[in-house]
Amino acid sequence: MKKTKAKRRAEKPVPRNKAEASRTSAKPLFARVALIGVGLIGSSLARVLRRDALAGEIVGCARTAETCKAVLDLGLADSVTSDPAAAARDADLVMICAPIGAYKSIAPAIAPHLKKGAIVSDVGSVKQAVIRDVGPFIPEGVHFVPGHPVAGTEHSGPEAGFAGLFQDRFCILTPPPGTDPRAVNKIAELWRRAGMKVEIMDPHHHDQVLAITSHLPHLIAYTIVGTATDLEGHIKSEVIKFAAGGFRDFTRIAASDPVMWRDIFLNNREAVLEMLGRLTEDLAALQRAIRWGEGDKLLDLFTRTRAIRRSIIEAGQADDEATPRKSAKPARAPRGRRKSSRSAKSRGR
Ligand code: NAP
Repeated sequence: MKKTKAKRRAEKPVPRNKAEASRTSAKPLFARVALIGVGLIGSSLARVLRRDALAGEIVGCARTAETCKAVLDLGLADSVTSDPAAAARDADLVMICAPIGAYKSIAPAIAPHLKKGAIVSDVGSVKQAVIRDVGPFIPEGVHFVPGHPVAGTEHSGPEAGFAGLFQDRFCILTPPPGTDPRAVNKIAELWRRAGMKVEIMDPHHHDQVLAITSHLPHLIAYTIVGTATDLEGHIKSEVIKFAAGGFRDFTRIAASDPVMWRDIFLNNREAVLEMLGRLTEDLAALQRAIRWGEGDKLLDLFTRTRAIRRSIIEAGQADDEATPRKSAKPARAPRGRRKSSRSAKSRGR
């Protein structure tokens, strides 16, 4: 099958350093980029920046020495530090790619070091809380363009990233009213170069949409796998032995990073609770239909949901064998359970 231009770009080899990148480069989009957090998302962006020579210089920032070393070993940044303030100094773009719970300490740490004209952006999966935690610290003359690339896998860490992660996915930007449109355009351009379709959205609306499309499905997966794990003795081992498509898919989702997901639920509390309330009502209705043998109700729902799946496939957002993704480097398993590694597919998150 003939490859599209976008696919060929997504599969282009990633240069390992600044010198290699500049050989393939026109003028970079940003002279100096600071990535605060270089895990799955930050390292995927670093690979895009390298691949397309979009940054003159990349500074990586991570919490632990292990990650800092991996970032340098993988050639994802020209320098690395565990101090967000040092990373942000002189940066034209500061992209926060850490778990949402860390923003509260990152924002005041970087604020005094941001230069005039710099853009602060992020990739967090929740937007109102990010604006609440970061917005008040943004100094006069610095632009703030919160964003959310809706793409991900269940893997974490710098090894798990890959440049093709963002290809053909959506990136939602939620700039506060009055944000300089040139700054918004620059961030939009960055994500378009990563292969994404960019949309501007109100942050409240973003949080509602993501609560139902991403956060609730993760909560359901965590719950169902938890319920199965709590089953006694032999039933539990049978569950694992006969794990068929449905349950297996839930275990994949429930393997997602615990810290990241704790932070998402705590920071999108209202929207998640509202959607959970609706789901609980719908579940009760289904429970009743099953109890009373109302097959027509079940058939009606299952027929409608099948149609939704078809429209997702038609929109090119399905993640099945028909739409394979470029595979990742060996991935780091979720924090605290970093044992096995395997390749990953991108999914909207
Ligand atoms: P990840 O793979 O776990 O990486 C997180 C990175 O942040 C690590 O490099 C970590 O360093 C660093 N970090 C943590 N606390 C920090 C701090 N206080 N200061 C500086 N760095 C810090 O996470 P991820 O999956 O890339 O997620 C990052 C963000 O992207 C989250 O806000 C998440 O909501 C959003 N997002 C995730 C997905 C997804 O599917 N994963 C999709 C879209 C958006 P150490 O390794 O040293 O701890």
